[in-house]
Amino acid sequence: MAVNFKDYLPQLKELQEIDRRLRQVEFELAAIPEQLETSGAEYLVVARALQEKETTLSTMNKERQSLETLIKEQTIQVQEREKRLYAIKTQKEYQATLKEIAQMKKETKDREERVLKLLEEGEKLTQEITQLKSQAADKEGGYRQIEGELKKRQEEVETEKARITERRPALLKELPPEILKKYEFIKKRFADALASVKKGICQGCNMNIPAQFYNEMLRAADLRNCPNCHRLIYPEEV
Ligand SMILES: [Zn+2]
Repeated sequence: MAVNFKDYLPQLKELQEIDRRLRQVEFELAAIPEQLETSGAEYLVVARALQEKETTLSTMNKERQSLETLIKEQTIQVQEREKRLYAIKTQKEYQATLKEIAQMKKETKDREERVLKLLEEGEKLTQEITQLKSQAADKEGGYRQIEGELKKRQEEVETEKARITERRPALLKELPPEILKKYEFIKKRFADALASVKKGICQGCNMNIPAQFYNEMLRAADLRNCPNCHRLIYPEEV
C-alpha cells in the first residue's frame, strides 16, 4: 500500500522545524561561554590576576611561617649546644660542636634573609592585591549582570531544547519509515531537507521545476524530489 506523503506533510514540517531549532539552540548554547568571556574580558583579566597574586602570597606566607618555625627551633638548639660547650672534655668534641654551631647559625642566617625577602615581596604583593581588589570591585557589577542575563538565556534555551528533544521521538513514530529514510538521507546534504515549491520554483535551490513535473506533483500523493537539488518538495498552498 502506497504511503500518502501529503497526509504526513504536517509531521514532516514539524520535524524539520524541530531539527532546525535544535541546530540553532545547540549553536546558541555553545556560544554562551565565549560570549561571557568576551563581554566580561576586562573583569576576568583583573579577577584572574587577583586570584593568581593571592595564591602566590599565600604560598609565600606559608613558606615564611615554616621558616620562622625552623629558625626558632634552631636558635634553641644552638643555645643548648653553646651551654654544652662548657662541659665538653675533649678538644675533638669541642671542635666538632663549634663547627656544628657555626653551621646551624649559618643556616639560620640564610633562613632569616629569606624571611626578610619574603616579607618585602609580600608587602609589595599585598599592595598590588589591594589595587586589584578595588579594580575588580569596579568591574564586577557589570560582569555579574551580563553573567546573570546569559545564565537566564541559557536556562531558557535549555528548557526549549529539552521540550523539542522530547517531542522528536513521538514525531518519528508518527512518520512512515520510508519517508523518514528519505528525509534523513537528504538531511545529510541539506539541513532543510524539505522544501516548498512556490510559483513553480523550489524554495530550497531556487530553481524552476519543469511544468509537467509540477503538474504531476500536484496530482500525485507520493513523495517527490526536486529534479535539481533532490530535496523533498511539496506544493505551497496558495
Ligand atoms: Zn530544489
